[in-house]
Amino acid sequence: MSAISLLSCGCLARENLSLSQFISPLVDEGTVAAGPFGDWLTQFRAALRGDQGSAVPCGDCTGCCISGYSIQLRPRDERALARIPANLLVRAPGFPRGHLTMPPRPDGVCPMLNAGKCSVYDDRPQTCLDYDCRIFAAAGLEAGGADKAVINLRVRQWRFTYPARADLEAHDAVLAASAFIRQKPASFPANRAPTAPTGIAVLAIKAYGVFLDTGVSGRSDAEIAAAIVETSRRFDAGGGH
Ligand code: SF4
Repeated sequence: MSAISLLSCGCLARENLSLSQFISPLVDEGTVAAGPFGDWLTQFRAALRGDQGSAVPCGDCTGCCISGYSIQLRPRDERALARIPANLLVRAPGFPRGHLTMPPRPDGVCPMLNAGKCSVYDDRPQTCLDYDCRIFAAAGLEAGGADKAVINLRVRQWRFTYPARADLEAHDAVLAASAFIRQKPASFPANRAPTAPTGIAVLAIKAYGVFLDTGVSGRSDAEIAAAIVETSRRFDAGGGH
């Protein structure tokens, strides 16, 4: 999120918002390169579809391992399942048979984290491979409250670059989608807009194309919400924007 400027597409102007409102005031904590925004967005959308994993430059950050997340394990996580003690796993509610989850310890730390390092790192579950806290930076969100403080710190440190206008336009559109989802939940059918940061960020990334359309400012909130839902549905079905 270096050197960014407002775009002329009007997506943010429609809500009287600016990029700077989404970017946490910074920062004494240093910065971490997040890469060109467009490249990251393409890679993350592919990861969402399961086409490829994320390649997150975590460095020595273990924020996602200490922040109270339950780790989902799918049947194909055979190597992880072979190494994680069965007594740490429970059936994943709402998932098909064979899907398990590994709850955190009471202090929020993953039970496989030992002395600050993942004890199954080479065989860690796909969930861990896919976790990419740049989604929160992309969507102008924090990961959560006090239990996500370490992740939030990294989120504030990420800096995307914008080598082309398309990078800026894409980030503008993701931010506008994120803002709309948060601010207009009643516009969605049956009020079914996500409310958790991860759900908001993922939906914004799936449906940001709605806000690339300069005609979006002439549409009603209900029409925009319907377009977000439909674009997300098409994404899940393997379609494009
Ligand atoms: S399994 Fe390893 S990488 Fe995944 S949350 Fe636990 S410690 Fe972190």
